[in-house]
Amino acid sequence: MTSADNVLEVRDLVVRYPVRRRSLFAPQHWVHAVNGISFSLAKGETLGIVGESGCGKTTLARTVMRLAEPHAGSITLNGRDITHLHGEALRRIRKDIQIVFQDPYASLDPRERVRDLVREPLDALSPLGRKEAEERVDWLLAKVGLSAAQGDNYPHQFSGGQRQRIGIARALALNPSVVLADEPVSALDVSVRAQILNLLGDLRDEMGLSYILISHDLAVIEHVCDRVAVVYLGRIVEIGPVERIFRAPSHPYTRALLEAIPVADPTAPRRADDIYGELPSPVSPPPGCTFHPRCPLAIDLCRQTRPEPTDRGDGHFAACHRAQELVAQAG
Ligand code: SF4
Repeated sequence: MTSADNVLEVRDLVVRYPVRRRSLFAPQHWVHAVNGISFSLAKGETLGIVGESGCGKTTLARTVMRLAEPHAGSITLNGRDITHLHGEALRRIRKDIQIVFQDPYASLDPRERVRDLVREPLDALSPLGRKEAEERVDWLLAKVGLSAAQGDNYPHQFSGGQRQRIGIARALALNPSVVLADEPVSALDVSVRAQILNLLGDLRDEMGLSYILISHDLAVIEHVCDRVAVVYLGRIVEIGPVERIFRAPSHPYTRALLEAIPVADPTAPRRADDIYGELPSPVSPPPGCTFHPRCPLAIDLCRQTRPEPTDRGDGHFAACHRAQELVAQAG
């Protein structure tokens, strides 16, 4: 599906890395990190991407940012194909897609004052003069809840939550259309997570931003996302509206993620890494449905034939041979 309302469209994206060979004559093996992923992102939308560590979500994010090179497929940002841009052309589109990192401290130079850190992207990529850039920095600091005076301090003088606010101000400096938030609250105290998520939500509404939010914490996804894509071994196995998928998951992997934490404590973070069994190697993924070695519902068909995504209605797709039965069971 393509739409003029989409700020980002990713089609059939494949990213693979060569495995180092033991000898010159050994066969070349590949890590299939992203294996044919497609999705779109509408203006003002927040799409969550969830899956276990090693499932391919970070490679996917890095590739969409064009920090990693895709092997196949396409990435279209604001109607422009950016899949193979390089050099100056790539540098120029960077202002339209920015990232908020998991660990804000690691991404902030400790020797620079905060106002200089927030100004850095403006100096690199915006045509603003010195005075206008300073005014923009003050505006950005205010937007993320920091005072102009705090801009004269250094990163170590701030708490973890405040540093993430600085990271957000930097990401928004160039007025991007898409912000990729990679585990934006997982390094923060539980007490400040909701504040940062609420701030991201307010800024999205106010500035007309669109987010891709990567998280292995389903509570975070549920809190802020409109839609969620569940990624398993480099593929989307289920995608659709958050409310619908959380209420009636149509893929056993999604169901396992949702059941990973006992109902006795529904407020506890639900983490993708808690589910039964281990993620198979992305170098030699299982045949058929790649989830079959861990799936309690696997049948012979699953071991032989890969399920294609089927339309469950309302923009909800699931790639499972037994999706229909799963929904019937739940109902
Ligand atoms: Fe399980 Fe088969 Fe569905 Fe894969 S296709 S998730 S193995 S039931």
